[in-house]
Formats: sequence, structure tokens, C-alpha cells
Amino acid sequence: MDSNYTYGPVPSRRLGRSLGVDLVPPKTCNFNCIYCQLGPTDRTTVERADYVPVAEVVEEVRTRLAEGARPDYITLGGSGEPTLHRSFGEVAAGIRRSTDVPIALLTNGALFYLPEVRAACAAIDLVLPSLDAGDEETFRRINRPHPGITLEKVVGGLAALRREFAGEIWLEVFIIEGVNSSDEQAGAIKRCVERIGPPRVQLNTAVRPPADEQVHAAASESLERIQRLLGPRAEIIAPTGGFEAIPGAEAKKDEVLAILRRRPCTLDDIAGGLGIHPNEAVKYLRALLDEGAARRRQRRYETYYEAGSAG
Ligand code: SF4
Repeated sequence: MDSNYTYGPVPSRRLGRSLGVDLVPPKTCNFNCIYCQLGPTDRTTVERADYVPVAEVVEEVRTRLAEGARPDYITLGGSGEPTLHRSFGEVAAGIRRSTDVPIALLTNGALFYLPEVRAACAAIDLVLPSLDAGDEETFRRINRPHPGITLEKVVGGLAALRREFAGEIWLEVFIIEGVNSSDEQAGAIKRCVERIGPPRVQLNTAVRPPADEQVHAAASESLERIQRLLGPRAEIIAPTGGFEAIPGAEAKKDEVLAILRRRPCTLDDIAGGLGIHPNEAVKYLRALLDEGAARRRQRRYETYYEAGSAG
């Protein structure tokens, strides 16, 4: 069947095999993070709407499972911020009625200050929010949020979610060398983490592109120092270079490389050319970059990828 709202399963370091569900059109987000793999947000929005039809999304997930997709998680996320979909809770409840596969929500966490957004998580098993700063200035520098969103709203909302939500919460902290990697900034993040109280904190950093030119991967010493500071609930999930095997993934990766051998492409060119979701294309591209089979080239405001020396 045509996939309008689902993609993958794709290999995920945090979730194993993840069947992605895209709840908003590209790039509908209340943030414009400097490390976003999907490119810039042209206009941040806080408008919650039924961006895609609930019944059709649920039906497509059902069909994908009936056709044999065997994910470890069904992940609500996609091309922007899924909680901007006013009925994401109904999507989760509809999926829950048709399968026991756990449902994850990949979110920037900005809207949990709204009681209705927290309540909409009832059918979700695992919430994966992010928090990249412990002070307002760094928050605005990294996440470049909609003017109506403050760090205090985000942290307060996450703390309320933690009190009310029966499922798991794994908080991701994205560390960028020289931007939020100092002891002072990590200390401020720690104070927010203690207020929220998530059982797990996962430290991530820039994989090689796609990402902004100013985003530099944190050195492993920085990640280890911050992990020690945050205590036993913190773990490092930054990439180790392995490409998680999923049947068919190697073949797709080869298809991406075949395209890059013909001409340099943007992420959108690759996704469009193969008819796959940009989030799926990112996975193959990242593996090729790690292997040296592809490399990145910046041309004015566009990032292009081409076959590398090992490709
Ligand atoms: S919240 Fe996610 S989708 Fe939105 S800009 Fe940040 S990384 Fe991109």
C-alpha cells in the first residue's frame, strides 16, 4: 500500500525497530532547533489542529501491521512536533485498540504545560521528550522556540507530565560542544532534570550531518563528564558507528549510495527519489557518512550529499 502517514520500520538506537507515524506536514513545529535533521522551520507555530485525518492514520498503521511489519515500537513523531496534532491522543488510542505493540511519542515537550496535551498521552507507553538547556538564553539559542514558549513552561509541563503519566519517560538531552557543554550549563540542566524527575536521561550529540554548520559533536570526555554530573539515571546514547541491521535496510542504504554516485543530492532529493520519509532517508545517509561512503558539502544555504572516497 502507499504510505502516506507511516515510514519504516527504521533502526532506532533508542527503540530498536521503530514504525514511524507522521502526524504533521513537513516541517510543522513550535521549535527551530539548530540541530534539526529536517532542515529549518520556516515559521514556528503553536497552532494545534487536525493536520492529518485520524481514521486514515490509524487504518494505515493497522494495514502495515497486517502486512507483516514487526516493529518494537510504533512511534508518533515525523516531520515536526506531533503534539501539535490536536487529536494525537485519539490516534494513539485507535492504534492501541488494534495492537499490543508499545506506542512511543517523540516530542520536544513544549506543550505539556497544557493539561489536555498531558491527558492525551493516556494510551501511550513511552514519552521521549527533549530538554537541551537549563537556562532561557541557551534554550533560545539551541531550540529557537516560538515566542510564546519559555523554558519555564517546558520544564513545568514536563514535571506535571511526570506526576500524572503512568507510562515511562526517557528524557533526551542533546549536547553541542561549546554551546551547552560547560559545567555551568550542565549544572543548570541538572536542576531542571531534578525538578522533572524522569527515570532515564539519555545524552545524545550531533551525529555527523544533516545538521547546522555551527553544531559540533560533543567530545566523548564532555559527554562522560555531563553523565557523571547528572548521576546514575543518565546514559550516553550517542552513536557508536554501528548500523542496526533490519531486513532490507542494507539494500535501501545501497540505493541511497547509488543515487549519490550519480549526482549530489539534498536530503529531500534522496527522500523524494526513493519515495521514503526524510526521517528514514536520514538513517541511511547517517550510516553512509559514518562509513565514509558519503560526504557532505555545503552550498550556500543548502546541504548536499555526494559519494565519498569509500563509496
Ligand atoms: S523539535 Fe524536533 S522537529 Fe522541531 S525543530 Fe527541533 S528537532 Fe526539528
